[in-house]
Amino acid sequence: MEFSLIDRIRQRTAQARDDVHLGIGDDAALLNVPAGQQLVAAIDTLVDGVHFPHGTAAADIGWKALAVNLSDLAAMGATPAWALLALTMPDAEAGFVDGLADGFAQLAQAHRLALVGGDTTRGPLALSVAVHGFVPSGHALLRAGAQVGDAICVTGTLGDAAAGLQLLQESGNTDAHAAYLIERLNRPTPRVEAGLVLRGQAHACIDVSDGLLADLGHLCAASGVGATLDVSRLPRSHALLDLLGEQASRELALTGGDDYELCFTAPVERVAALQSELARLGCGAAVIGRIVAGSGVHVHDADGQALAFERRGWDHFGA
Ligand code: ADP
Ligand code: MG
Repeated sequence: MEFSLIDRIRQRTAQARDDVHLGIGDDAALLNVPAGQQLVAAIDTLVDGVHFPHGTAAADIGWKALAVNLSDLAAMGATPAWALLALTMPDAEAGFVDGLADGFAQLAQAHRLALVGGDTTRGPLALSVAVHGFVPSGHALLRAGAQVGDAICVTGTLGDAAAGLQLLQESGNTDAHAAYLIERLNRPTPRVEAGLVLRGQAHACIDVSDGLLADLGHLCAASGVGATLDVSRLPRSHALLDLLGEQASRELALTGGDDYELCFTAPVERVAALQSELARLGCGAAVIGRIVAGSGVHVHDADGQALAFERRGWDHFGA
């Protein structure tokens, strides 16, 4: 049974790549790293009821498990190549596995990524995806590197996924705005192409998975700098603003998780050119603040009035 499931996954995710010497089927995959490139590796786990609401469609789970990992590669400025999938499920249900593999494959094929192996076990539903990609040696985008005076920018819009989760949990709202926000939760768009544009241009970069305040805080700590943020500039979707209004949407944009946008810093004089390139990619980028000397993330409104926020983002082992 385990083998027929693996076969279903293999067939549904087939992607030819010259650098895959041996994919699914042997004890391990054999892969060729191109000369002059560094291998970039990341892994993330999705647990039922923790990282996606219980009852989420199989295809959405498969998509999201890959998307959150591609987002980590994007934040490094890496080109995706391969993935491994460790799948734990309570029972061997072919329909569920097919859906999962189809959702995974949809996103994988968009990035020419090959699934080259994995593991299949019985237990409470959870997926770990490991991804591998390349950067020209020495040219990865890092969290460290932000410089005092840099503009702080973020791609796309923030707070949508957190609003989508609230809608699923607390309301039966299924209008077009709600559907858009729930889609942002279930099918995040990893900013892979944006990461490639930013490589060599941005000073520092991180993907926003746990909330902007928390993740920008990590970037600042790694760079040994502080940040000031203007909340009125946080990019928010029409759906989020229409449903929640200015105040509540600000809070979600600052502290909500699961956005998978890129937050980066760059010299001010480079920002306009980067913004037009990112606009061409369809995600755009907004300038939301400045890197300053010191430490921590300081939030103010359009008049410069300091603001305090209680929830600093998602922390699995937090109080
Ligand atoms: P082993 O016992 O040697 O680890 P397995 O029976 O676990 O081998 O796996 C057989 C082959 O199928 C391996 O190549 C493995 O990488 C692949 N595989 C197993 N589970 C998955 C999965 N969920 N997705 C993709 N490949 C898988
Ligand atoms: Mg195994």
